[in-house]
Amino acid sequence: MPNIFNQHSESDLDSNPKYTGRFAPSPSGQLHFGSLVTALASYLDAKHHNGKWLVRMEDIDEPRCISGTDTAILHTLEAHGLQWDGEVMYQSKQHSRYQEVVNALLHHQQAYYCSCTRRMIKAMGGTYNGHCRDKGLTPSNGQLAIRLKLDTPLAPFTDLIMGEVGVPHQKLAGHRVEEAHRIEDITIKRRDQLFSYNLVVVLDDVFQGVTHVIRGCDLIDVTPLHRCVHQSLGYQPLEYGHIPVAAIAPGRKLSKQNHATPIECTTALKNLVNALHFLGFTEVKQQDFNSVDSLLSFAVSLWNRKKVVKTPEIIVPRHESTYYSVP
Ligand code: GLU
Ligand code: ZN
Repeated sequence: MPNIFNQHSESDLDSNPKYTGRFAPSPSGQLHFGSLVTALASYLDAKHHNGKWLVRMEDIDEPRCISGTDTAILHTLEAHGLQWDGEVMYQSKQHSRYQEVVNALLHHQQAYYCSCTRRMIKAMGGTYNGHCRDKGLTPSNGQLAIRLKLDTPLAPFTDLIMGEVGVPHQKLAGHRVEEAHRIEDITIKRRDQLFSYNLVVVLDDVFQGVTHVIRGCDLIDVTPLHRCVHQSLGYQPLEYGHIPVAAIAPGRKLSKQNHATPIECTTALKNLVNALHFLGFTEVKQQDFNSVDSLLSFAVSLWNRKKVVKTPEIIVPRHESTYYSVP
């Protein structure tokens, strides 16, 4: 399908973008051990492949973002030698670009207004059944959500790190067997006018010319959907690699809510060594390095996707102050 939603991409200006990676933190909290691991892994994978490494602030959900956190995150990255290429992109400044794509999708009948309430969707069995697809609703019917028509089934994919990844079962629940391949038309703009994360993550990766996404396993289940959205919009799918997430207990990812300690910049070398050990590069010894730069250049050459631990979740020790504090 021709790409009718062609956005101007920064990579157009670049002569040799075989690899562009990115780290995309949400500035709702400072970097903690888990986010440092993700930053490091995406940086090493990019630099090992002589690629560019970008940083994108995922502040689309503005009410959840805390002012000044973006600067704190960038400062922490720099203190750890994780220097990004180009300018940092802020999702909060991209609204007009998102709106243009949404307008084009509406215009081409690839998206439509939907008036269904949460309660109605619950009554459909929890999965939206396409109720408003052909109703031709318009904004004059009130403040409505906008959904993307998704006719391509979710497909398994090969993860650069975790290997073969199937389609998560829960997405198929509620459908009759003959409809099992169909997925729900996702909301791309909510009734409250917020663009949905699952749309903007795809648009931004394309816009920034990203070719490889290395991120935490907490997002592995949503990746078939991201690939499906890519395809529905006429874009080539990207390569994805997922690394283990740090958790304080099964299913409880290290996060601000779980009292993760902000990364301490004064112990950058130690933090990086801990992160490398976490990822499976246990041979790295802190005493062999006198700067973050010397450690990073060693780690760039050592990086090997095959060596990354294949467990989706690793429980980090409670006593280690680097990880989290007990409230
Ligand atoms: N902003 C997301 C997070 O902080 C990461 C999204 C992504 O890497 O695709 O969890
Ligand atoms: Zn509807």
